Amino acid sequence: MKIPELCLVALVGVSGSGKSTFARKHFLPTQVLSSDAFRALVADDENDQSASADAFAALHFVAGKRLAAGRLTVVDATNVQPHARQALVALAREHDVLPVAIVLDVPEDECWARTQARPDRDFGRQVISRQQRDLRRSLKHLGREGFRQVHVLHGVNEINTAEIGYEKLF
Ligand code: ATP
Ligand code: MG
Repeated sequence: MKIPELCLVALVGVSGSGKSTFARKHFLPTQVLSSDAFRALVADDENDQSASADAFAALHFVAGKRLAAGRLTVVDATNVQPHARQALVALAREHDVLPVAIVLDVPEDECWARTQARPDRDFGRQVISRQQRDLRRSLKHLGREGFRQVHVLHGVNEINTAEIGYEKLF
């Protein structure tokens, strides 16, 4: 896939779909703003969901500073809910930067199997099922929500073989 040299990338995928892994593989650590890292920054605990509002406020603030400086920014959060994506589209527009969605669409069973094997996650399957339902509902709306490019990677194979190139856009 080719994405603009300067854009705001929203990764979209349920917990365990491999967003953080994908981000590490394709982007610089400093380009990636993850909701977990911001929960840890504001609440000392990356799993503290009660810290989400503050964590996202801080994440959006930093993303805005990066975009204002013309730096590619990747938001590593589930982004399966419309309001989460709307905030990112608005932020990109505010800074005259193109919002791009990269969707990691991985079967729920696979995500759940991975989650059970993770020491850093302890929620139940219903959490992933709900996110999966939100994702399914979201897929057809992404373009209309304002994302200028929507790249959907279907399954582990497409995710593992994906390559990212850059195009200059004026
Ligand atoms: P969360 O939303 O909970 O942060 P995530 O989408 O960021 O989840 P990762 O942390 O990247 O997911 O990956 C979850 C687990 O799945 C990890 O144990 C990781 O090693 C494994 N995993 C990620 N991507 C792949 C892949 N392409 N193939 C096999 N395993 C993978
Ligand atoms: Mg992650």
